[in-house]
Amino acid sequence: MVYINGEWRQSNETIDVMNPATGELITSVVTVGRAETKEAITCAKEAFSAWKKTTGDQRSYYLAEAVRIMKERKDELAETITKENGKPLVDAKSEVNSAINYLNWYAEEAKRVYGDTIPASHPDKHLMVIRQPIGVAAAITPWNFPMSMITRKIAPALAAGCTIVLKPAPATPLSAIKVFECFHEAGLPKGVANLVIGPAEEVGGEMTSNPDVRKITFTGSTAVGKKLIRDSADTVKKISMELGGHAPLIVFEDADLDAAVEGVLLSKFKNTGQTCISTNRVYVSEDIAEEFGEKLAEKVSKLKVGNGLESGVDVGPLINDAALAKVSSHVEDAKKHNGKVLCGGKTVGSQNFYEPTVIHYANDKMKIATEETFGPVAPIFTFKTEEEVVERANHASYGLAAYCFTKDLGRGLRMMHELEFGIVGINDPTPITIQAPFGGVKESGIGKEGGKYGLLEYLEEKYVSIKAN
Ligand code: ADP
Repeated sequence: MVYINGEWRQSNETIDVMNPATGELITSVVTVGRAETKEAITCAKEAFSAWKKTTGDQRSYYLAEAVRIMKERKDELAETITKENGKPLVDAKSEVNSAINYLNWYAEEAKRVYGDTIPASHPDKHLMVIRQPIGVAAAITPWNFPMSMITRKIAPALAAGCTIVLKPAPATPLSAIKVFECFHEAGLPKGVANLVIGPAEEVGGEMTSNPDVRKITFTGSTAVGKKLIRDSADTVKKISMELGGHAPLIVFEDADLDAAVEGVLLSKFKNTGQTCISTNRVYVSEDIAEEFGEKLAEKVSKLKVGNGLESGVDVGPLINDAALAKVSSHVEDAKKHNGKVLCGGKTVGSQNFYEPTVIHYANDKMKIATEETFGPVAPIFTFKTEEEVVERANHASYGLAAYCFTKDLGRGLRMMHELEFGIVGINDPTPITIQAPFGGVKESGIGKEGGKYGLLEYLEEKYVSIKAN
């Protein structure tokens, strides 16, 4: 169902939502088109006139209510994620926690929208900067984190005083519906948050062209992000884009090898490698590459692949056939270019499962060296010097996340400065946390989500000069 102006809507059009682990139909959900998207935007605009005047405390109340309700429904929310996305239930639970934590953080942050005063150059002048909500925000979210990507956008938007229209990914609309059920139960005023499920081009087209939308926030592929930027140009919207990545993970010869192996397990195989900050290239100092490859393959071959609802499963299915085909093609291409498969390298069963894979002797001719695989495949490249690996790690077009493992503090600090990425994890393969800014450089994106930085994306500075004595 879609949710416009505080009401659940029916329509004759539906899309099927499939379970990627079983290929079975979970349910069908109602979809709408351009006219309803326009209507949702109009309702959000009407709701904005009252919502923008609420106090931070009032906005905080609604967000905190949503937190309370989501906490009560945690298990049901996690199961929904696993069914439509495929990730293991334990990971779905941690996603629900993270979704709740974003709401909780911004429930607090709603009270902290500060401005500035500026010393004037004239005795009669008084210069101020106030921060105001930008207006109606339109959000488009992906399927890989179908719940936390939604609250990471909605929570700061509402906290700032914006109203919002959300379009979730067609593969995972059920998580979005659940979040909106919680907002509804929280008594959020009508029109403040609206959910539109429908064809991407139609819904997205209305969002980008409608002059009442003042902000577009998107998480997804670079190709779609570029289109949204272009399409938003005519109405000069504020934009936040969380786009693709191609993360390097560098293991220096002085690294704690076990920690680095664990780092690859966490940053490559969680979510079946379907994360924009997933490691795509593992660079290992040539002195330790053989040992590292053996250790990694030993651990990776023990990962249990299967339906995320079964206990003990580490790696779920890929989201669909196309994702599986891409992963297979990258592995076949790597083999053609003299890569050696240390473990994995095959599909599993008849659904979208792929064995967690480690490929040694990777080289820059392979597709995997530059294209985002979005799957459970870790290619190991070797390097000789720090200068060389930094140059290779810095991707020509992507710049989202990078990781390195070293015990040398000076080297760690050099990596902090020299890696051209928005997020750098030094001996930390899981740097993401609600209070820190998430976002990329280059073609990986514009803007930040999380923490005080995320709130600013929904605010505009207004400069006021008052002449009085
Ligand atoms: P992925 O490859 O991860 O599915 P996409 O960028 O295709 O990434 O999808 C991310 C989100 O963008 C989804 O909600 C999808 O429906 C939406 N999307 C795809 N194409 C368009 C478009 N032309 N306009 C607006 N949204 C789009």
